[in-house]
Amino acid sequence: MNAVRYATTHAVNAGKHKVVVVGAGSGGLSVANQLYNSFKANGKELQKGDVAVIDAAKVHHFQPGWTLVGAGLKAKQDFMRPTEELIPQHLTHIPSNVATFSPSSNSLTLEGGETVKYDYLIVAAGLQINYGKVKGLTEALARPLESRISTIYSYDTCDATWDLIESTRVGQKALFTQPFGPVKCAGAPQKMAYMAHDRFKRTGRFPGVGVEFVTGLPVMFGVPHYSEALDKLRRDKGIEADFAKDLIEVRSEGQGEGKRVAVFKDLKEEGKTIEKEFDMMHVTPPMGPLEFIKKSPLADAAGWVDVSASSLQHTKFPNVFSLGDCSSLPTSKTAAAITAQTPVLVENLSKLMETGRVGEAVYDGYSSCPLFTGYGSVSPPSLLSREQGADQTSRRAQLMLAEFGYGGKPLETFGIVADQRVPRRPFYHLAKDVFPYAYFRHMVKGEWFGPKGLVPPVFPA
Ligand SMILES: Cc1cc2nc3c(=O)[nH]c(=O)nc-3n(C[C@H](O)[C@H](O)[C@H](O)COP(=O)(O)OP(=O)(O)OC[C@H]3O[C@@H](n4cnc5c(N)ncnc54)[C@H](O)[C@@H]3O)c2cc1C
Repeated sequence: MNAVRYATTHAVNAGKHKVVVVGAGSGGLSVANQLYNSFKANGKELQKGDVAVIDAAKVHHFQPGWTLVGAGLKAKQDFMRPTEELIPQHLTHIPSNVATFSPSSNSLTLEGGETVKYDYLIVAAGLQINYGKVKGLTEALARPLESRISTIYSYDTCDATWDLIESTRVGQKALFTQPFGPVKCAGAPQKMAYMAHDRFKRTGRFPGVGVEFVTGLPVMFGVPHYSEALDKLRRDKGIEADFAKDLIEVRSEGQGEGKRVAVFKDLKEEGKTIEKEFDMMHVTPPMGPLEFIKKSPLADAAGWVDVSASSLQHTKFPNVFSLGDCSSLPTSKTAAAITAQTPVLVENLSKLMETGRVGEAVYDGYSSCPLFTGYGSVSPPSLLSREQGADQTSRRAQLMLAEFGYGGKPLETFGIVADQRVPRRPFYHLAKDVFPYAYFRHMVKGEWFGPKGLVPPVFPA
């Protein structure tokens, strides 16, 4: 084995760890901490260095917060923390990136060339945003205020979305796109359309500003239970929609009043493209698996980490597990899904570590998407100054809380007391105020167990 020289900031059992977690994002932090906590609760405390978390990122972001930033409700700095602060001393942090996996020799290689060996591996490295798949997009996002194109899918440009909304004038056109294929939080693209529409309306710019949602999907949302309700909602609001159109190019000629064009591939008619002019555009870029996973023996044909949809154990390498955006789990890629995946993974892996047989916990595909549909009363000064009145705005604060499992089956936490297809104010405050707090207070510490929150699920013995 190579000598390991990685610059860890915490205690090291150098080069070999019982459990190695790749990625210190929502999934990696949640699972590493919950695994440690679970052993401790069972009186079998893991030692310093037993669990290592590998990630070179210096900053950890609460990505769902970027929707609030794009809507002008929060500052983007509110949702970032130094990665180092979120990794407790009893875990080893390896501040590097993984370059390759060698699961047949229970090892991986870091970008610096060092080898790390493990008994068990958890892959939680997220996904890749493929800006380059839309011609002109990378360049446009580098100067969002001139190109008038932004995205909440990047820390760098999420706040520019709000600037574009604020500077769009009556007589202009606002486009909101969603690509064909998997994206993080599949509801976020249309959330931005609803929030922009509400903002335009409150400031006397709607219907003067035309609002259109253009999606690669044939429907508003991949889960039929909510899709119809969302389609009715957007029609009632007067938001136009165009389906099965995939953004392939953006052209932004000059600055100021220059002509701006978005080119879409018509997915219903081979070879046909459609052009739409715009004055501001919120783009949801195409996404896909990370290259280093795609080319590894861990990947399925599409490039995701190939795990069992129920146990989260790898289909070929029994000591490997995965969760979150990088996994092949056939559900919507969200942090909410990770809260439900984590206890299942921890249970199944702990049993494997202790008895040699994987546990029997089953993941039902739970995921959730909080769809903001209008503003609340608590707004930044820039927003409040233009409001008609706080009372009126607070009554209109709304959010549709979509919760579902595999096959689009509704798994609604509040379904007994309320139809969750109806946007409601309490849901708005859950997503805007409670979730961001609970994320840093509980989830990344491994203390959040899916829809039941702080109450851990009980699995068969
Ligand atoms: C705009 C937006 C809105 C969203 N809205 C919601 C919402 O309302 N509700 C919800 O539940 N979810 C939402 N999500 C989705 C949610 O944020 C993600 O699903 C979640 O963060 C995925 O967690 P993850 O751990 O799989 O990946 P990430 O959190 O992305 O973490 C992956 C980590 O892996 C690291 N990594 C990458 N490559 C390597 C490598 N080679 N070696 C080591 N480490 C590596 C990265 O640095 C990163 O820290 C939203 C996301 C976005 C962007």
